[in-house]
Amino acid sequence: MSDPDADPTATTTSKRQFASDNYAGICPPAWKAMEEANRGHASAYGEDRWTERSAELLRDLFETDCEVFFTFNGTAANALAIASLCQPYHSVICCETAHVETDECGAPEFFTHGTKILLTPHEHGKLNLDEVDRLVTRRNDIHYPKPKALSITQATELGTVYSVDELGAVSELARRRDLRLHMDGARFANALETLDVAPKEVTWKLGIDVLCFGGTKNGLAVGDAVVFFDHDLAAEFDYRCKQAGQLASKMRFLSAPWVGLLENDVWRANARAANRAAARLEAALRDIPGIEIMFPRQANAVFVQLPESLREGLWERGWRFYTFIGAGGARLMCSWDTTDEDVDALTRDVRELAQAVLATSTPE
Ligand SMILES: *Cc1c(COP(=O)(O)O)cnc(C)c1O
Repeated sequence: MSDPDADPTATTTSKRQFASDNYAGICPPAWKAMEEANRGHASAYGEDRWTERSAELLRDLFETDCEVFFTFNGTAANALAIASLCQPYHSVICCETAHVETDECGAPEFFTHGTKILLTPHEHGKLNLDEVDRLVTRRNDIHYPKPKALSITQATELGTVYSVDELGAVSELARRRDLRLHMDGARFANALETLDVAPKEVTWKLGIDVLCFGGTKNGLAVGDAVVFFDHDLAAEFDYRCKQAGQLASKMRFLSAPWVGLLENDVWRANARAANRAAARLEAALRDIPGIEIMFPRQANAVFVQLPESLREGLWERGWRFYTFIGAGGARLMCSWDTTDEDVDALTRDVRELAQAVLATSTPE
């Protein structure tokens, strides 16, 4: 079966898909900022005004004097951030569905030089705090990798969002057990849009030490921000980035698009558009017999159980989506540019195929 997206000779843009928010392109304000950064020369390695401005805008957003670094992607951001929290003999606790565990090819273990990842079962993609406490307290001898940090994903890999109270409970446990806090915020913008609170209320005020703020899925080409709320932890992080091949020499092309995202709250509008599209999709799918929504939809993803024939039917009609993420089922992900028409076109196909499935499986 040919993949319409894989045809290198295709001249027209193929349809918008629901496979991932990284299928989407660059949002216009980010593109414009990049174009502006392309006028003439600028200092290299982050000594430019765009990089300075983007860090300033992030400090304004979080209302604190945080330290900001840019990496090419989220895997590097997470792995290097965790490496700044842990020694090789430490452990970091996350839940079994965490991207750092399942989708980074061991980068956190590699860049920490051996920090062990300890897993808890997930509850809709969130940490089970009783289990965290058990992992921390079950041993305190020198033979056990000393728990040093918690890593949480916001919004989670399963499209749910930690509430302010849930984050408070994570924070309380971390403080009680002397654990550092890392937040994988590949979809932090989507989570914030759902929570509708000031960014500081769900980050440093709750003791988040370092946030990996995803820009790519929010409408950039590349460039995730590592935001340290604890200055001591950021010490020599620039060396860590350089050694890991994460220091862009033309840094302004990573940072200028962030200026495009942060000015005028474009990041927020992008997240809102994606979340709204997912809400529309969820509402439409709920009404279709034979389709089961798997998790509460709280951000821009809808996870559904689809009968096998329906999944294949959608694939044949050219739809692309992942079925290997999280806990099985199909992940339908909306992005900043997903339109109502895109959602309606997909749900129309799901409805037609579901009716065909019902017609063949229901006795007369
Ligand atoms: C996409 C994503 C990342 C970053 O992935 P990269 O491909 O390395 O940019 C990190 N965490 C989560 C939860 C993600 O979905």
